[in-house]
Amino acid sequence: MLSEDLKKIRDLQVREDVPLLPLTSFRIGGPAHLFLVPGSLKALEQTISYLSNRYIPYKVLGRGSNLLISDKGVKIVMSLAALNSIHSSPRGHFLKTVSVGAGCRLDSFVSWSIRNGLSGLENLSGIPASIGGAIAMNAGTNKFSMSEAIEAVQFTGPDGSCWLRRDRLQFDYRSLRLPDRAIISAARIQLCKADPDRIRRRVKRVMLKRRATQPAGEPSAGCIFRNPPGDSAGRLIDRCGLKGLRIGDAEISKRHANFIVNCGKASALQVVDLLKIIRERVQKETGIKLVPEVSVWGMET
Ligand SMILES: Cc1cc2nc3c(=O)[nH]c(=O)nc-3n(C[C@H](O)[C@H](O)[C@H](O)COP(=O)(O)OP(=O)(O)OC[C@H]3O[C@@H](n4cnc5c(N)ncnc54)[C@H](O)[C@@H]3O)c2cc1C
Repeated sequence: MLSEDLKKIRDLQVREDVPLLPLTSFRIGGPAHLFLVPGSLKALEQTISYLSNRYIPYKVLGRGSNLLISDKGVKIVMSLAALNSIHSSPRGHFLKTVSVGAGCRLDSFVSWSIRNGLSGLENLSGIPASIGGAIAMNAGTNKFSMSEAIEAVQFTGPDGSCWLRRDRLQFDYRSLRLPDRAIISAARIQLCKADPDRIRRRVKRVMLKRRATQPAGEPSAGCIFRNPPGDSAGRLIDRCGLKGLRIGDAEISKRHANFIVNCGKASALQVVDLLKIIRERVQKETGIKLVPEVSVWGMET
């Protein structure tokens, strides 16, 4: 019934029992009972309006790089991957405002910026994300975070879409407070003109640093805990001697203690068990309560 109703929305792809595991960087998680892919802003608005007005909960999938999904899966997932267009405003000699759909991949956007001689997001190079996910998580490094490049964000909710300028957005460390029942559908990003070769060199430096400090090639969800104020979660976990601890195929990375890596067929439950051990040990030995950075779908942590 639900599926049949949704199929009536124009430009909305409705698929059933879609495996989510290949759509996440952790390579963990069961299927989505319904997987929705709006092909236009109008389809997105109609879908959200339909679901919200009936109080039907759903999850929004970006690039799946900060997710731990239950082994049993989740009911309804909406992917914004098709809303990925990029438009540059013709105005401005030095500063340029670029509008981009939430489903655009961050790396595609950075490549586009380099091709167009526009600088601004190089420090985020190598962070696997969609634009929507990078804004929702205020993705970043200790030098720069997504919020710093944002001019405005478009939110879509049950009553349609609206733009909010940067000064009305509540960004925090690795988070953005979303308006009630709304999701991010697009953003305006401020970039400035620069020599493409210089931007390329900067991107290369950032990528080299990333490769030297993070476990490469092993499935993970990036940093699993938020850094507590003035400290680093990785340092605390390392201090408790937990590097390399393993449950099944889920292992605390030997390279970066704040990464849990999937060494093969780790289950979500194994990761949750590791999270519990880490939190208990760190709290017992340092008094600090770690808070997960990873978004968990369909389970308690
Ligand atoms: C190897 C690796 C390295 C990483 N390095 C970093 C790093 O240096 N810095 C950093 O900050 N992060 C890092 N991460 C984590 C991850 O890349 C970021 O959190 C990223 O912003 C997630 O974006 P996503 O599109 O993959 O979001 P997803 O993982 O798909 O979703 C994450 C959360 O955002 C929500 N969301 C996604 N899109 C939208 C939307 N359009 N509207 C509303 N909510 C939305 C989802 O519902 C979910 O709750 C790393 C991850 C990996 C695997």
